[in-house]
Amino acid sequence: MHELSIVNALLKHVQPYLNRKIKCIKIEVGSMSCIDPERLIGCFDWVKATAGLNDTQLIIDHHPAKASCQQCQQVFTLTQLGQPCPCGSYDYNLLSGQQLTLTEIEFA
Ligand SMILES: [Zn+2]
Repeated sequence: MHELSIVNALLKHVQPYLNRKIKCIKIEVGSMSCIDPERLIGCFDWVKATAGLNDTQLIIDHHPAKASCQQCQQVFTLTQLGQPCPCGSYDYNLLSGQQLTLTEIEFA
């Protein structure tokens, strides 16, 4: 399960801070990262008790993907996979949108 391995990787990052009470963990997820946010939160809720994070909330920030077009050179926002550039071209490079970053750990 993809989401569960992400949650486990996330918990590894959080581990050094477990001696403090963590209120929430914020992550930034690119819209092209193929992650189902609801399943990600579901997985987190499932493992958080064993990780000692009973009262911790996982907050997901969505980050729209950006691509740069080879035809018209403009940078545009991709809202879904397989979408063309506003000029109609499919010849573009993804600049961002596949990332999953731990952005903040908030302590209670
Ligand atoms: Zn274009």
